[in-house]
Amino acid sequence: MELHNGMLYWPTTFVKPSHTNPAIKGRYDVIIIGAGMSGLLTANALMNEGLSVAILERNEIASGSTSANTGLLQYSNDIMLHELAEQIGEQDAVRFYTLCYEALETLDKIAAILPDKADFIRRPSICFASKKSDVKKLEAEFEMLHRHGFPVEFWNDIIVKNRLPFEAPAALYTMNDAEINPFKFVVYLAEQLKSQGVHIFENTFGNIIEEEGTQQIIKTMHGDFKTSRIVYTTGYGRLPYGKMKGANINRSYAIVTEQNPRFKGWYEKALIWETARPYLYLRTTVDNRIIIGGLDENRAHPAKDEEKMDTMAKALLEKLQGLIPNEQFHAPYSYSASFGESYDNLPFIGQHPQEKSHYYLLGYGGNGTVYSMLGAEILADLIMGRANDDARLVTLDRKYGLKMKMDV
Ligand SMILES: Cc1cc2nc3c(=O)[nH]c(=O)nc-3n(C[C@H](O)[C@H](O)[C@H](O)COP(=O)(O)OP(=O)(O)OC[C@H]3O[C@@H](n4cnc5c(N)ncnc54)[C@H](O)[C@@H]3O)c2cc1C
Repeated sequence: MELHNGMLYWPTTFVKPSHTNPAIKGRYDVIIIGAGMSGLLTANALMNEGLSVAILERNEIASGSTSANTGLLQYSNDIMLHELAEQIGEQDAVRFYTLCYEALETLDKIAAILPDKADFIRRPSICFASKKSDVKKLEAEFEMLHRHGFPVEFWNDIIVKNRLPFEAPAALYTMNDAEINPFKFVVYLAEQLKSQGVHIFENTFGNIIEEEGTQQIIKTMHGDFKTSRIVYTTGYGRLPYGKMKGANINRSYAIVTEQNPRFKGWYEKALIWETARPYLYLRTTVDNRIIIGGLDENRAHPAKDEEKMDTMAKALLEKLQGLIPNEQFHAPYSYSASFGESYDNLPFIGQHPQEKSHYYLLGYGGNGTVYSMLGAEILADLIMGRANDDARLVTLDRKYGLKMKMDV
């Protein structure tokens, strides 16, 4: 399945190092299928445990939705904390938000040793009320975030007006979030891991799996790969084994404006989003551009039709002009991409309930990168046989998790 269509921005920001597949080893402790954000972060966590790891990627490293990711890293989720508390209870909801907050710290540490720090920069976030009736929601959210010690401020309409180029009835200002160039991050992390012994195989489709006792054999056109544990970090594509019960694949749009050295951005170059669903979001880049995305549609495949792509790019540009009326923008980059969301707004992470040698890390949702990070750590614990009490929050064995019967 094609995951995006149109003109991507991140692959133009640096020259991707060339890649040569290594020789296949006799056996690996773990084989990861999919070399995107989730695959590389999982490989990093498992390599740190001293395990031998190979990653099989059917295309190129970071060529999936990682290259379309707009790179907003936030501890707040598509589902607000007080709404998640209603769904799974306050204690678990707060724990999940804490995991997201901590995942940002870990991403910061990993980015810190990569070239250009993969353009990881700490930013605050501003979530504005799209309409007056959403102010109550922001008040409830502020109360719960504040009570549990998350760094947050409530802004009324006057503060919003004084600090932002547009007006809104209220906003939540949250601190310690970040922006990143996710493509750079994954490509450079791959380079680092390769130099530390992780084997990455591009153009290698990991689809046919045979079992020999406890051994799994992945048959590919380049040869057989042997392991006892397989981790699927296959993103929004069809799973080689199994199906998710509670997930939708939609499509989204994003544009990236041309450089404008005159435009200094807005308040603290915060990551901006809103209470409406689907929401509009925007951020700046290190080279003075603006990325704005949203306008999600209930279709799995990215738009292909040029007229449709044009219409959606224009619509996003108009939204941007509406928010920042005193500047003129043009957008040389625009694309459509598939985007996975789970019914309960939680990612799918863990060991297959029946097929014990299979693990999944599918970070469906707007906070996908943060999910990839916290998922990599949970899987490292599960694979090393350590107890991880957080795993139950995102387990495949839940109402909206994995279909039990293997669906080959
Ligand atoms: C428009 C858009 C904006 C987004 N913005 C944000 C954002 O601001 N912040 C954020 O946190 N998240 C964001 N996301 C989500 C984020 O992109 C995803 O969470 C993230 O890319 C998922 O990474 P992944 O490694 O799981 O998937 P992918 O990057 O898609 O990687 C999966 C890889 O698996 C490979 N693969 C699949 N099947 C096989 C197989 N059988 N054999 C071998 N290889 C296989 C694919 O080729 C692919 O390269 C956004 C997504 C979109 C589409």
